Amino acid sequence: MESSCKAEATAHTMKAPAFAFVLMLAGAQPAHAAQVDVVVQAGHQGRPASCAPHHVKACNLGAGSGNHRERDWTPIVADQAAAALRRAGYRVLRRPADYDGHDNARAAVFLHFDGSAPACKSGASVGFPAKTDVGFVRRWEKRYRLFFPFRFVGENFTTNESHYYGFRKVTTPGKSMLIEFGEITCPAQEQWLAPRLHRLGDELAIFLIGELHP
Ligand SMILES: [Zn+2]
Repeated sequence: MESSCKAEATAHTMKAPAFAFVLMLAGAQPAHAAQVDVVVQAGHQGRPASCAPHHVKACNLGAGSGNHRERDWTPIVADQAAAALRRAGYRVLRRPADYDGHDNARAAVFLHFDGSAPACKSGASVGFPAKTDVGFVRRWEKRYRLFFPFRFVGENFTTNESHYYGFRKVTTPGKSMLIEFGEITCPAQEQWLAPRLHRLGDELAIFLIGELHP
């Protein structure tokens, strides 16, 4: 959000020929399409307020335990990852659940925690679209399995994961992935995850830097 507004502001203050040149470089993309290194979306952030203005019918508010809500956790992880990536010199767009526009990025990650009824039937997982860089997903999976001491339940284990709406909002060269960091409704996982939200963001940033480093 922050970066896209900055990009628009730059365009408005440019003199006409310079602006035309930028448009030419941008090709057929809409003028508001952002080109960044990484899009980091915090799942469910901003809901339910953001659903009506964005005409979202299935306003999924995310999972929750008695103590914590997924939509409060995902922004913490996303902000931490974004800050670490920016410190390393990468251009980052931090997106909430619902927003206008389409982004172009070298990588996009959509952050979630799973819920399950009955509890503790889930764990960590990853989701990705059909056309994806499988190596990108597997390297994250390998890394997270070493870190996360509970079950890794799989890849695209629900259709929600493989058909996630966020994938259509970012064009990447195959590096798009939905991450479920664990099951918030499972007390053992919740207690392990709660004090490690910043650490999850750091782990994700380190992984992405490794993937994007030239
Ligand atoms: Zn979610």
